[in-house]
Amino acid sequence: MKNIGLLTAIVSLFILLGCNTMKKAGQNINLFPVSQDVELGQQVSDEINSKPKEYPILNPAKNKEVYKFINGITRSILKTGKVKHSNEFKWEVKIIDDPKTLNAFCTPGGYIYVYTGLIKYLDSEDELAGVMGHEMAHAALRHSTRQMTNMYGLQALVQLATGEASSSQSAQIVQALVGLKFSRKNETEADEASVSYLCGTKYNAAGAAGFFEKIQKSGQGTPPQFLSTHPSPKNRVKNIHAKAKELKCRGKSKNESRYAKIKRLLK
Ligand SMILES: [Zn+2]
Repeated sequence: MKNIGLLTAIVSLFILLGCNTMKKAGQNINLFPVSQDVELGQQVSDEINSKPKEYPILNPAKNKEVYKFINGITRSILKTGKVKHSNEFKWEVKIIDDPKTLNAFCTPGGYIYVYTGLIKYLDSEDELAGVMGHEMAHAALRHSTRQMTNMYGLQALVQLATGEASSSQSAQIVQALVGLKFSRKNETEADEASVSYLCGTKYNAAGAAGFFEKIQKSGQGTPPQFLSTHPSPKNRVKNIHAKAKELKCRGKSKNESRYAKIKRLLK
């Protein structure tokens, strides 16, 4: 009888440990190897390049000033030293020439895509930097691979990263990535990371809030994917400002006139 008692205790202990481990795995561990984030991003980028009708990339050779401008934003964010995997990931920006789409996204491994629609919609450089910081954070914090593993399973993702996926699989995963929905917690994390990144630059660190405020005020159009997730834009604006205050960010630059000039180049 004594032994049964002991056995029960051991089993209970295992169950308890098991639960904790599982909880930890779900929250913190990404089973997709970090070394493959860049390879996956490369595959996704190849897939996007192969579909110029769906993803018309603005020609870098013919739009040097715009690319110089947007690459400058990425560089100033990376220079803060606050972006995880800043050396391992690609951090390359491509502009998608689609004036009707208010969106931006970043693949695993740091391939950043910004739609001309978003650039034209915003009013200042800090707003664009804020949105880019947010998207970069999803890649740096590896929300993207975690979320995609949940959706497609580890094996499919590894196959895609190693170039073994079928073309229909690749197409499906790219499609999902462009409209990837993150959890509320991941969105809040990316918002806060954006403030922390911009806090180390000359920009107004709450830049991303400007975008949400504008969307709220205008009440126009369909909000982009990264807005349609929780929390509500109103709470996000509040959180972003609170974070900038907490971090005592001093940057003030909005660079509205330079931004207006870049927008004119896109017309
Ligand atoms: Zn997001």
